[in-house]
Amino acid sequence: MTSAPDRATAQQDDDEALEVVHLDDLRGLGVRARRAFPAGGIVHRFAGVVSEYICQHSLQVDASRHISGTRYIGYLSHGCAPNARLDMSAFTVVALRDIAPDDIVTIDYAGTEHRLHRQFACRCQASTCRGWIVGSAEHPNDEGLGWLAARDAN
Ligand SMILES: [Zn+2]
Repeated sequence: MTSAPDRATAQQDDDEALEVVHLDDLRGLGVRARRAFPAGGIVHRFAGVVSEYICQHSLQVDASRHISGTRYIGYLSHGCAPNARLDMSAFTVVALRDIAPDDIVTIDYAGTEHRLHRQFACRCQASTCRGWIVGSAEHPNDEGLGWLAARDAN
């Protein structure tokens, strides 16, 4: 990408505090903390390209805009009991609880996304796991309805 007139922010500080890692074949890529962050602390300030387009690694900024081309946040894993959240007004990742070195940083995708690029079955293992993950303004698709029916039949 060569043009940068719509760069979201100029600064990405402390970039080495995070690392994109391959979690496993089911979950794909994720983001690992390389140092500790206290609850409430800023884990990362991000920048990227803000546009109206949704793609696999974009995240929703507001009602009509999405940020893509980010170094880390497009690779954050979903968790139903996440250890971080995105602040889309400050463009920061904020720790919701203490994060230790080597912890995988997770966010609740429904915290920002009205509609997901792709709905999916969650494997976060939280006691509060919702099972089938959708955006905050959508319902499970046919695959999700089938998945939920099969889960609830057991
Ligand atoms: Zn879950």
